Amino acid sequence: MRIGHGYDVHRFAEGRKLILGGVEVPFPAGLDGHSDADVLLHAVMDALLGAAALRDIGYHFPDTDMRYKGISSMELLGCVAQKIADAGYRVGNVDVTVIAQAPKLKKYIPQMMENIAAKLDVDPGRVNVKATTEEGLGFTGNMEGISCHAVCLLEE
Ligand SMILES: [Zn+2]
Repeated sequence: MRIGHGYDVHRFAEGRKLILGGVEVPFPAGLDGHSDADVLLHAVMDALLGAAALRDIGYHFPDTDMRYKGISSMELLGCVAQKIADAGYRVGNVDVTVIAQAPKLKKYIPQMMENIAAKLDVDPGRVNVKATTEEGLGFTGNMEGISCHAVCLLEE
């Protein structure tokens, strides 16, 4: 078994959709970024790539490459899933903590978990997503952005 960790941050930006775990969450602001800025999936992909010692998403999908401008991170997750499979691994489990002062994410979390499990081709019980706040502290508490941690296990 191999363990991986991923961490990502995106700042809020007006006039963009808020996409988390492949779900469009109604909110007055979205996240800034070259792709759809799905901070949750970015952390998941970095955890998966990290566990397989396959660098990170910036290495595979550089933000200088116009092919990835505005791309759905669900599509990138599919590419990462393929790379993991090609390297001879399958996903044991994934656990995610998204840190956002707002919006409340509870009702969107089941869909996020379903999206991730489907893209990774694993049973839904192998993927968990949690949301928390930082009690008004720091950049997430100040509503400057959203951060996300993810860990995973891969099995050879
Ligand atoms: Zn990112």
